[in-house]
Amino acid sequence: MTGTYLDYNATAPVRPQARDAMLAALEQAGNPSSVHAAGRAARAQLERSREAVAALVSVTPGSVTFTSGGTEASALAIDSAVAAGVERIIVGATEHDAVWEAVAQAGLPVEVWPVDARGVADLDWLQVALARPGRALVCLMLANNETGVIQPASEAGAMVREAGGWLHVDAVQAAGKIAIDFSGLKADTLSLSAHKLGGPQGVGALVAGTRATLSRRQHGGGQERGRRAGTENMPGIVGFGAAAEAALAGLGSMAAQAGWRDAAEARCKAAGAVAPGAGAPRLPQTLALAVAGWSAETQVMLMDLAGVMISAGAACSSGKVKPSRTIEAMGAADLAGVTIRISGGWASTEDDWTRFADAWLAAFERHRTRQGAPMKETA
Ligand code: PLP
Repeated sequence: MTGTYLDYNATAPVRPQARDAMLAALEQAGNPSSVHAAGRAARAQLERSREAVAALVSVTPGSVTFTSGGTEASALAIDSAVAAGVERIIVGATEHDAVWEAVAQAGLPVEVWPVDARGVADLDWLQVALARPGRALVCLMLANNETGVIQPASEAGAMVREAGGWLHVDAVQAAGKIAIDFSGLKADTLSLSAHKLGGPQGVGALVAGTRATLSRRQHGGGQERGRRAGTENMPGIVGFGAAAEAALAGLGSMAAQAGWRDAAEARCKAAGAVAPGAGAPRLPQTLALAVAGWSAETQVMLMDLAGVMISAGAACSSGKVKPSRTIEAMGAADLAGVTIRISGGWASTEDDWTRFADAWLAAFERHRTRQGAPMKETA
């Protein structure tokens, strides 16, 4: 890839292990449901991939249902909880649209679980909310896509379990970046997506614990133990498995990104930027940065012109950036349209982060000059 790619939270480049495994899978004929030798080989390949994905979150392979991505995995979890008789939904204020919109369609009363100024969900609020009548589905992401803020999911899990509720954890951004132990989270369901950790786009998984009964996502053949009919996306699943294995092995080196990210953050902050979420536990490779009055869209375009690919903190759909719900929920509505996201990953280097900081500081200096105010300092 030419240029500096620091948009892993949007999608990570495909890892070589995943690409190789996918090419091999494409060469191999065979439907995993067929009983002949080619079918059995495909089945074995499918189950090996399931084992690799299961290992990433420390569960048994039988807990993993493959889906078309993180969005479908969360939709399956929410539909299943509703079918299992939950009476209300508590949803984290900074959840991704994949969860937010699915919850809105569920036809149940919804309460929004607030976060503090750092972006961390308020556990005292949850305690009070869970004491209210009605079995609750609680949706809490493990790590936020815009700020990288890590939520207190295991504490929430203990409280939800005590109250007899159902905890769904969207771990799409956390997986492959920090270690995840599903049973330690005490969650009922957890969603994953391959393309955020170096696998292909269009494949993901829902992990379900023994207390969760999954609904049938779609009718047809009996694939995925009847939960998701349709011939499996073999190249995608095989790529997911290979990426999961590589991501698990690479967790240690992912942690090194934090030092590079922190150095870039310190330089930008010294010049006058703020870093929403920086006061909370964060993913090692995510940085949210904001400057009041300097639109995120402009910053993204300027970085692109400088050969550095990042994104606006807020979701971008149909080419338009909408203000970030995450930043608004943190009480910083004035920064909701001006926060950018820089996110590294498995192939990022210290130089990538330095190039970003250099380019951003140069652009900021020009911006301040146009505004008639000099930068605080160029560290
Ligand atoms: N959840 C979070 C936190 C995400 O960041 C994303 C993707 O941006 C998704 C879910 C959706 O995953 P997918 O693109 O695999 O449907």
